[in-house]
Amino acid sequence: MLKTRFTEAFGVEYPIAQGGMQWVGKAKLVAAVANAGALGFVTALTQPTPEDLAKEIQRTKDLTDKPFGVNLTILPTITPPPYAEYRRAIIEGGIKVVETAGYKPQEHIDDFKAHGIKVIHKCTAVRHAVSAERMGADAISIDGFECAGHPGEDDIPGLILIPAAANKIKVPMLASGGFGDGRGLVAALALGADGINMGTRFCVTQEAEIADSFKQQMVANDERATDLIFRTLHNTARVMKNKVSQEVVAIERKGGAEFKDVQHLVAGARGRAAMENGDTEDGIWSAGMVQGLINDVPTVKELVDRIVAEAEEIIEGRLQSMISRYAEAAE
Ligand code: NAD
Repeated sequence: MLKTRFTEAFGVEYPIAQGGMQWVGKAKLVAAVANAGALGFVTALTQPTPEDLAKEIQRTKDLTDKPFGVNLTILPTITPPPYAEYRRAIIEGGIKVVETAGYKPQEHIDDFKAHGIKVIHKCTAVRHAVSAERMGADAISIDGFECAGHPGEDDIPGLILIPAAANKIKVPMLASGGFGDGRGLVAALALGADGINMGTRFCVTQEAEIADSFKQQMVANDERATDLIFRTLHNTARVMKNKVSQEVVAIERKGGAEFKDVQHLVAGARGRAAMENGDTEDGIWSAGMVQGLINDVPTVKELVDRIVAEAEEIIEGRLQSMISRYAEAAE
């Protein structure tokens, strides 16, 4: 059993979370994560309306009795969502933990806390983690440059970002970005985190409701198969390298690009359509460098059990044997 401040604070068996993932964080996956003993999050903005989110929360409850949460992402969008209404659906849905991500979470944290909901704020900079803690966040998910989706603009990899945040943060902390196996979990704990958050790795499981071709592509890809788009728009996103991402990068390289120049390529609706018709080349798809560590499509339970078993074996076996007093005792 791996007990950490995260498992204690959030009442889950394992120090593993499946954070928000646009188009992927749906009932079937989230319930499978909960049933496997980790903490899953339904992605609020994947649902077209707050009413649909209420239904997705109910669908998840029908599939698990274990705790799960909802992610609410606050980043630039083509059509700004009605955040207050999404918050009402979360509160009225009886959700006990929310993952916020993105800019200026104060009003969201205040509303959730006023309703007894714990908040994990995901962010990509130590200064943002410190201010989220000051705003009342119950935990921080610190997201390194390796991550899928939006890594921020500072480009600090987890090896530095996680311990730098641990030096400043008092509440429990998840490490996010680049995690996919037991070695990563042990490394995160060593760097000062209380658990890991995984996105891309959970996309490549049997329960993730995405086209099999996308899962197979992520298995085939190595760690170099991502592109950074929106760099010049200061809204950097790490996505799976494909024809569309390369086109966006080429437009940005010419200089002076505005969002409208790439909107037709990057619209979430186009990515979702590509995902539905299975064409991995036809839209933007968030994926992290951890693709280089993904070699199979297990069930969520197989994945979680494997990560925990591997982590325990590393701690009790490989690491402990390096300390001479344990090695001598074993002789
Ligand atoms: P969308 O279709 O509205 O936008 C597609 C992409 O363009 C998103 O990455 C968005 O941030 C970006 N974008 C939109 N307007 C922009 C602008 N004016 N300037 C610069 N960039 C702009 O978004 P969607 O795909 O429907 O996703 C909904 C929400 O989920 C967005 O906030 C998006 O950022 C977020 N998301 C987060 C992740 C993640 O890894 N955290 C991954 C995918 C999407």
